Amino acid sequence: MTKPTDGAAPPADPTAMLVALRAAAPAPADGQSALVRSWQAAHAAGQLSGATLADVALLLLQTLREDDDILDMAATDLLRLHGEARHLAPLRQLRPTLRPRGGFRDWRIEVARAISAIEARIEGRCSCTVDARHGAPLAPSGCEIEAEHVDVDLYIVTYQVRCGQCGSRWSVTERHGYHYPSYDWAALAGSSGPVPGGAGRSSPSAA
Ligand SMILES: [Zn+2]
Repeated sequence: MTKPTDGAAPPADPTAMLVALRAAAPAPADGQSALVRSWQAAHAAGQLSGATLADVALLLLQTLREDDDILDMAATDLLRLHGEARHLAPLRQLRPTLRPRGGFRDWRIEVARAISAIEARIEGRCSCTVDARHGAPLAPSGCEIEAEHVDVDLYIVTYQVRCGQCGSRWSVTERHGYHYPSYDWAALAGSSGPVPGGAGRSSPSAA
């Protein structure tokens, strides 16, 4: 059985990689995310193609099991970051068949976001427009926080951020739900980004 050993050369076969990922359970997040991180590092070092990572993720979603819940974030992240045009058709076919999940962001929302991210990459658009459209979490988005405002009565945080890639500026409103926060993105004046539908409710310092 393959173990997620740091520094070991990863297998380049998507089926074997998925077996290794599932074997990294049952300690849900840690073992699996460490394995995915090691794959990402191997990709960054040129040892593993992004397309192979996307293949593993697609295979995971296509063979989804009851105990795979924690893996979808890794899978949809890998597809969002590395998916290619050939992944679009199977993802579009797969999305309506995925079940909703309690306690985490819905698989189907994350797959829709991955589809949009792949489309944007093919068309040469920046990923921040995709993050805005799909209410993506702020932390991994590649945006720099320029200012933040905490509404201590409502516990709503509004961030003013700037995309590190294209320079678009956004107001991102974070609301803490029972299991996970939600994020509403609105383009700020002077931004090159498009204005998404449904602006955030509170934007205290938005220009
Ligand atoms: Zn951008």
